[in-house]
Amino acid sequence: MPETVTMDKIVAFCKRRGFVYQSSEIYGGLRSSYDYGPLGVEMKRNIKEEWWRRMVHMREDMVGLDSAIIMHPKVWEASGHTSTFNDMLVESRTSKRRYRADHLIEDATGIDAEGLSPEELTKIIEEDERIKDPVDGGRDFAPVRPFNLMFETYMGPVKTPENLAYLRPETAQGIFVNFKNVLQTSRVKVPFGIAQQGKSFRNEITPGNFIFRTREFEQMEMEFFVEPGTDETWHEYWIDERFNWYTNLGLKEENLRRYEHPKEKLSHYSKRTVDLEYNYATVGWSELEGIANRTDFDLKQHAKYSGENLEYFDQATGERYVPYVIEPAVGPDRIMLAFLVDAYTEEEVNGEERTVLKLHPRIAPTKAAVFPLSKKEPVWTIARELYDDLKGDYRLFYDDSGSIGRRYRRQDEAGTPFCVTVDFDTIEDKKVTIRDRDTLEQERVPIAAVRDRLKALISG
Ligand code: ATP
Repeated sequence: MPETVTMDKIVAFCKRRGFVYQSSEIYGGLRSSYDYGPLGVEMKRNIKEEWWRRMVHMREDMVGLDSAIIMHPKVWEASGHTSTFNDMLVESRTSKRRYRADHLIEDATGIDAEGLSPEELTKIIEEDERIKDPVDGGRDFAPVRPFNLMFETYMGPVKTPENLAYLRPETAQGIFVNFKNVLQTSRVKVPFGIAQQGKSFRNEITPGNFIFRTREFEQMEMEFFVEPGTDETWHEYWIDERFNWYTNLGLKEENLRRYEHPKEKLSHYSKRTVDLEYNYATVGWSELEGIANRTDFDLKQHAKYSGENLEYFDQATGERYVPYVIEPAVGPDRIMLAFLVDAYTEEEVNGEERTVLKLHPRIAPTKAAVFPLSKKEPVWTIARELYDDLKGDYRLFYDDSGSIGRRYRRQDEAGTPFCVTVDFDTIEDKKVTIRDRDTLEQERVPIAAVRDRLKALISG
């Protein structure tokens, strides 16, 4: 990662160009809550659409789902979230601040403390003098205790324990509880997957690093149901598939790596988990996506708690079994941050500094911009007609103000891969210039061929 790219720079850039704003900013801002501005919302939609296209539309063994955020509370008992979806909380008695104990230890000592018990964490904090309250340097901490990350709410007008409900902390459970519905109503056969995108909520103790960790975020999860015994091969398959999705969309391979979770630290449902980690600016290598072998844990738990039979009947062999599940799970917010960090470039071209977002055309918020070189006729009208003709295909931008150099620079910063310019020669030769954001090369294309040429260029 070049040192010129820092998280502060990315945050300031996102605000300035309308990618991401602090939530409720006019009221002083709400910590760790963010809003996506005009360019940000386009980019995030592109990420989600690319995922859906690749995971659902391009496959015959996949279907989609959109389940509710608020589910029956028993779902979370069965999944283990009510009892075990905890982070370890430690409170500093001097500053009254609360921290995630494993992060506090790791930041001060480099020791990987994730997955340790409250007692083990308390002992490390007591004994290791390097661990201090980051706010006041104090070392007076209360014993570490588990803190459940689920957001609570009440269904209906009465706030009684029977009406207690949760905002989902993951989208996956909506898929498991609909396994039988999907089997009965679509013609899927194992191996097959169900994919879903949507909001999830976690009351993170220490959210931070911009949109990397927030309390309200989106997830894109896919549960792939396979015959037990074939799960390990499918797991490998999905790790490669997901790795390639990123590199095919232009993420630099040197900034992406696989991380194997040690056996003793696996979640209660997992047989094996491999994360794809990205080398985020300032933050360093961190989880981008998790790809877990969830075994038959969830389906068996829901069968037990609901009393429903969630077995699969294989018509070819006459066998019944509870499928194993491979789950690639990721947040589009984290993907967006990775793409932004990866694409952000400050460079010098022809003796001039420029900031450019080298985003893959499929991810770029605006696919192309149309410029008339001059506001004079008929140049202006030709450009306007071209814009009107193309604008329904994708997000297109029309700009007729300022020098052409300034217009290019604005689009470079927004990550727009192609700029189409109508000039005085166009009047005679009926051709326009398409300029490539990264190579700066320009090609002359007949107006009638612009749509097809851009289509080919955008699909990469
Ligand atoms: P972490 O260890 O970073 O808290 P996790 O292992 O708890 O993440 P999972 O439960 O595996 O995360 O969730 C799947 C994916 O959802 C993550 O890889 C990440 O992309 C995304 N995600 C999880 N928590 C958040 C969050 N608080 N903010 C944004 N994205 C998140």
